[in-house]
This record gives sequence, C-alpha cells and structure tokens, in this order.
Amino acid sequence: MADFSDIIDQNQMKEHMQNALKTGKVSHAYIISGENGSGKEYIARIFAKALQCEKKVNRNENIEACNECHSCVQALSDNHPDIITINHEKPGSIGVDDIREKLRDDVSIRPYESDYKIYIIPEGEKMTIAAQNALLKTLEEPPSYIVIIILTSNINAFLPTITSRCIVLPMKPVKDDSIRKYLMEECHVVDYKAMLCASFARGNVGKALELASNERFEELKNGTVELVSKLSGLEIYDIMDRVHALLAPSEENEKNSKKGIDTALLDEFMDILLFLFRDLLVYKATEEGEHLIFSDKISYIKSATQKCTYDGINRIIKNMETAKNRINSNVNIDLALELMLLGIKENL
Ligand SMILES: [Zn+2]
Repeated sequence: MADFSDIIDQNQMKEHMQNALKTGKVSHAYIISGENGSGKEYIARIFAKALQCEKKVNRNENIEACNECHSCVQALSDNHPDIITINHEKPGSIGVDDIREKLRDDVSIRPYESDYKIYIIPEGEKMTIAAQNALLKTLEEPPSYIVIIILTSNINAFLPTITSRCIVLPMKPVKDDSIRKYLMEECHVVDYKAMLCASFARGNVGKALELASNERFEELKNGTVELVSKLSGLEIYDIMDRVHALLAPSEENEKNSKKGIDTALLDEFMDILLFLFRDLLVYKATEEGEHLIFSDKISYIKSATQKCTYDGINRIIKNMETAKNRINSNVNIDLALELMLLGIKENL
C-alpha cells in the first residue's frame, strides 16, 4: 500500500505533486522520465491514487490518499475505472490505433465517479510518430478533467510539440545510503549485501531490489572474486574457461549473448571487478573494513593488499577502462577480456 511517504528520495518530484494536490492546480499532462527500474510507474500510481481519493488526508506533512474510500479501494486493487493504463498490442511499439482507441476516442467520456480521468502511458518512448501526433490532438484541447501521465526511459524519443505541452518530471538517482537503508529496513537484506546492491544499482531502486533477490548475481560475485584470487596460479586458457563458465547465458537469455557470453552478466562482471579493485585501494589506504563494498571478502582483500602496490591497482583500473571501450566498440570480446585479465594477473 504505497504512499508518498514510501517514495525514497525524489524530493523535487514529490514536492511538485504535493503542490498540485494542495492547490488543485493539476496539469493535464506529465512526463515522468527515468531508467527502467527507477520507479516511474510506482510514483505515477501513488499520484493517481491520491488525486482520485475522495477524502485526502494529511499524514507526515504529506497530502496522501486515505486508502479507505471507494476510490482508494479500487485504485489499490488496480481496478479503478478512471485510472486507465494504455497498454499496447505490439511489444515493440505503441501504434496510432492504441492511442486513438484507448485514449483519444475515450477522453470525451466524462469520469465515472471521480474528479479526474487519469491515463498512464508506460514505455511512452515506444509511441510511433503517428501515435504521438494522435496524442498531440488531445494535448492541444484537453477536456478539463483529464490527466495524462507518460512514463519513459528516453525523453528524446518525443516530438518537441509533445514535451512542450507536458510538465517533465525527471527521476533522480537515489543516494546509495538511502537505498542501503531501504533494503535493510524494509526488505530485511543483511547489511553487507545491502551495501553491495546499493553500490551496484547506481541510484536505481528497482535494480537494487532485483540484485538483492538474484541468486545468479551472488554466484557471479563469489565466482569472480574467487577467480581473481587464483589468477596467479592459472594459465590463460584456464582463466578463459572459467570466465566462460561464469558468464554463460541461461537458456532464456540466449538471445542476449555474444559468442557464448551473456552481455548483461558481462556488464556485472566488469562492475564487480571495478568495485573489488576500488575496495583494494580503500583498504590499502585505511586498513578498515567498514567502508568496503565486499566486506564479506575481507580476508582476501587483506591478503591481496599486502602484495600489490597503488600503482599496480591503478594500472589494473586503467586496463579495465580500455577493455570496456574495446567491448563497447564490438571488438573480439574474448580478446579484450584476455588482455584485461592478463593485466590483472601481472599487477596483483
Ligand atoms: Zn481515499
């Protein structure tokens, strides 16, 4: 039962919505933009529920939905006749027919029993130009009761005529510390894991939640640290065999793989390595375990820092940047990884 007080950070967005709720000055069109997993729809639904609530309440200095009235009950069960989600038939695009049938031809019908008629358009960047033009007609002459909330991970996909008629509310990256606290307090994730997931999520709450519950990530993390700890005793073919075993795509993810390597896992593998060397630098400088991202690997980190130098670690990090660029520019992934891992082996 989510409310404004459950939203982590995003103060600017909350303030804007609270202001609209307080003054009743609600815009006819909003764009909420942010990465996948950042919580756009979560916030849009909190806003929609509060707008429609029949007896809004003041809680913790926020105007919130009462969660008890007829409208709230309908919104909470995703069954509100005046909160309409525009789903699309084709997975890859929102076509002109989707917008015409579900929105443009529908807006003239007054709300059933609420003050507003709210349309939520997820994945708005998938609207074709024709669909955007159909939407524009409504945006130009909106009936007084309508509120359109477009959600998007790519604001640049919209015609300027669309963006200029919407209030654009960008999602901001959430602070690592806020995510860590949230995972610990609300999801009962243990402290070292919460810290790790918060660091990897780079401000994206959905990503952090996914990582916290993803066993594959845990395996990848342990496997990667183990590989690094054994590098000095391994030949390159052995190293690459182990990398391939770590990064092998699951059956359902076969299509997102290149030469037997799952590209999403590869991104995480690179991040794990970078954070691990960051930890080595931190531990070398402070000899304290409490600020480490991989605090569960402290015994390895301790022993590794005794052998390596600052210069060595910095060379490794530079090496990794080169490898990342090579991978992004589509050179042979195996070759880029081989060179990078040899560089790590030499400098550790
Ligand atoms: Zn209510």
